[in-house]
Amino acid sequence: ISVTDLVDESYKRIDQVEDKVQAFLTLDEESARQKAIELDKKLGTDDAKGLLFGMPIGIKDNIVTRNLRTTAASKILENFDPIYDATVVQKLQTANSITIGKLNMDEFAMGSSTENSGFQKTKNPWNLETVPGGSSGGSAAAVAAGEVLFSLGSDTGGSIRQPASFCGVVGLKPTYGRVSRFGLIAFASSLDQIGPITRNVEDNAYLLQAISGLDPMDSTSANVDVPNFVQSLTGDVKGLKIAVPKEYLGEGVKEEVKQSVLDALKTLEKLGATWEEVSLPHSKYALATYYLLSSSEASANLARFDGVRYGYRSPNADNLMDLYKNTRAEGFGEEVKRRIMLGTFALSSGYYDAYYKKAQKVRTLIKQDFENIFAKYDVIVGPTTPTPAFKIGENTADPMTMYLNDILTIPVNLAGVPGISVPCGFSNGLPLGLQIIGKHFDESTVYRVAHAFE
Ligand code: GLN
Repeated sequence: ISVTDLVDESYKRIDQVEDKVQAFLTLDEESARQKAIELDKKLGTDDAKGLLFGMPIGIKDNIVTRNLRTTAASKILENFDPIYDATVVQKLQTANSITIGKLNMDEFAMGSSTENSGFQKTKNPWNLETVPGGSSGGSAAAVAAGEVLFSLGSDTGGSIRQPASFCGVVGLKPTYGRVSRFGLIAFASSLDQIGPITRNVEDNAYLLQAISGLDPMDSTSANVDVPNFVQSLTGDVKGLKIAVPKEYLGEGVKEEVKQSVLDALKTLEKLGATWEEVSLPHSKYALATYYLLSSSEASANLARFDGVRYGYRSPNADNLMDLYKNTRAEGFGEEVKRRIMLGTFALSSGYYDAYYKKAQKVRTLIKQDFENIFAKYDVIVGPTTPTPAFKIGENTADPMTMYLNDILTIPVNLAGVPGISVPCGFSNGLPLGLQIIGKHFDESTVYRVAHAFE
């Protein structure tokens, strides 16, 4: 099979299903085909190198790609053509994968259903009346629908794991610092991580391998060794100690979801692992902490969209102040404005100590909860989401119910540890996800457990 064949398959599938799924914001067919021809010339020679040689991949649209439209699903960046590639995109080029196109998301990654996209609503391929999750909804749906084999998403509070769970695919949020954020359009810089979404754990490990590592362009990227993740897929979980937080099987988590996790634990027990119930006592504060911190960071990060430097500029202004105001009023969607206002408020003098600083302290307590558990256990296991995918429109009226979707994923970002979602069953024909959380920089154990279970 040639690379051209693979790329053909990808675009053929897109032709067949894309008007229903609507996962892509931009396709890059001409360059993809050109690259396929170049790689095909190398097939069978010593130059046929690269961890992802010829593999079709889709990229979330908040990761910048040189000369390829990058919008973060916002009208404010509708016609933005970046002048450089994100580090992960450069790494994909080194790995010789082929970029098929850019994937839909919630505007600036704020959301849990991809309904906050400024352009289109992506559908869940398992049931077109339900959401694919978010914010990396396009990335998860495209893999689930077979449009691409691999995709990149980003996860600030669950945006890789929750859509992976809703779409029945595998999604990993790496340890904070494992993957460079250079070229990721920032939402909340202390929480954002880019990560892989794939059909199975092995593919996921290959993609993480390709994008990981220290980057001089990102001062928060970590100087730690990148192990061979694929080698950790031994199938052996004998003697492994699993912690199951009681808060993760508590109120608000649907019965079928709890049952699927208990079934998964039985499977892992049969394979020789043991599990015990534990507590993450501060997890009840995670949601409030997350929305304060992430909105504060977002309000600062999104200050750069002023109509001067990037993208959209309002034509309805005749002085500088109005230019800023009108550009932002016209360019940003409702949810983005809500977060900017919340963040600006939390950071304003007089409220800073009561909100932002307090939230930082609680974040430390949440992190300590995880450290306490990881002193005794190898991984934490629970559901990825409290419910399977919900209907389009079902949660849009009330931002609070939408925010509750991420209650099980958010603590992981606050602590900076890695977490994966792997498919673990169905409820009424909709996929469910098992979340496996590991120690800092121990993606290998997370993958080992996910792979043994899958
Ligand atoms: N749903 C969460 C939010 O809206 C998480 C988003 C994300 O991880 N990017 O903030």
